[in-house]
Amino acid sequence: MKKTFRQIGEYSLVRYSNHKESTIETPKELSSHYLSKEVHDELMDMGDEEFIEECKEYLSTTRKFEEKNLDLSQEIAQTLNIGIVTCGNCGKVNLHKFGEDITCQSCGYETDEPSDCPDLFN
Ligand SMILES: [Zn+2]
Repeated sequence: MKKTFRQIGEYSLVRYSNHKESTIETPKELSSHYLSKEVHDELMDMGDEEFIEECKEYLSTTRKFEEKNLDLSQEIAQTLNIGIVTCGNCGKVNLHKFGEDITCQSCGYETDEPSDCPDLFN
């Protein structure tokens, strides 16, 4: 499934052909960071040192956004009993009431297993 791959030191940049998006991964942290095509292409064209600096910068800013999103999504979950999840089949974002089956509004995928559809901001 991997279309392109670049690794320098602990930083790797992977583009998955089935997502049309890219991820930066580090061995320490297995969470993925989605990149736009423009950012991906910029990173693929950079020299090694610049690539590492950009990866560090990108990871530090996305982490801040993710923490804020995580806080707010937990507030929504706690006050409204609604989760923000991604479809285990097509990856689209869905809202769902806790305790009810999840049905993807994009592809129709149905499941009663919450772990099939991971939280968007976790
Ligand atoms: Zn779906």
